Amino acid sequence: MSIVVLKLPVVKRKTEDRPRQCPYCAGETFQRWGGVKKPVKDVRVRNVKVYRYRCCGCKRTFRHYPEGNTKADQTERLRVFGVVLWRLGLSHRATSLVLSGLNVQVSHMTIWRDGQAEAQRIQKRNQWRPVRMVGMDGAYVLGWGEKQPVLVAVDVGTGEPLALGYVNEYDPQAIQRWLAPLVQQHGITVIVTDDLSSYKIVAKKLQLGHQVCQFHVRRWVGKTLQELHNTVPKEWLWILDDVHQLIDLLPPDSSKALYALWKQLPGRRSSRSQSRSALELLRDLLLRLSQDWHTYCAFQSEPQLPWTNNAIERAIGKMKMRARTIRGYKSWSGMQAGLLLAASRML
Ligand SMILES: [Zn+2]
Repeated sequence: MSIVVLKLPVVKRKTEDRPRQCPYCAGETFQRWGGVKKPVKDVRVRNVKVYRYRCCGCKRTFRHYPEGNTKADQTERLRVFGVVLWRLGLSHRATSLVLSGLNVQVSHMTIWRDGQAEAQRIQKRNQWRPVRMVGMDGAYVLGWGEKQPVLVAVDVGTGEPLALGYVNEYDPQAIQRWLAPLVQQHGITVIVTDDLSSYKIVAKKLQLGHQVCQFHVRRWVGKTLQELHNTVPKEWLWILDDVHQLIDLLPPDSSKALYALWKQLPGRRSSRSQSRSALELLRDLLLRLSQDWHTYCAFQSEPQLPWTNNAIERAIGKMKMRARTIRGYKSWSGMQAGLLLAASRML
């Protein structure tokens, strides 16, 4: 049996050190100016001792809180505990109810505010973090009356969300507007996505490396080949076998070979209004694979680059699971905070 341990912030009853700096003038000499017993909301501690100090420089007084305490009523431990309960799937009201069972009265609004503040902290922590490889995918989440498009960028190294955008993944210009500043901020050089064409356009425009998830590629190429198997004239079936093998082995320099195969097939004969013949469909497939081949093999020259977008799908899975029990977010900022919190590291 394995036991998972939740490590919450430590809460001290009194300070063991003196303040290092005056919060007003950064002075370093103080006089102790009395102390108060401050009642706090916490599962173990009822009161903490807070000393006031007077700065010898600017003569102003300030409070010096023991570890795990701030000017808020609840301790850091209780604040984080509430956020953890919410993340595990309880509503804000249910979280408040559980805490009341531990003899701590905290309103559901306070728990909601604590969650928002925690999300802001995560955003701040992420803001200038260097992240070279990012997985991206779109999702739809219920908010203000209908499903809203959300674009999620995940650090493929940690599997944690880096940023969330109120962006439709089918709109390359919107993606570019949203992604360009992130590329600058984090030093992103390569993205991992599914094979939606908008990502290809954006990667090209922003000069990013691009890996298309191999699960997606294999799925649609496999399906297309299977359909063509029944329709393509027999003398061309060998091409299907060749393509199958290339997709299996992913030799990095196959773009030219695919292009050569494309050239061997007779050109388009059907008119614009006619539906395409099997051979024409095969031709389209060969051209598309030839043009996109580099995005299938990018991982071969980037040792840490994954060849699927599993990390992003896991993160989006966590977000959706948490969002399912919420009757719909009321604003983008609330949705952003909730989704970010749902998929970020626990503490
Ligand atoms: Zn001062």
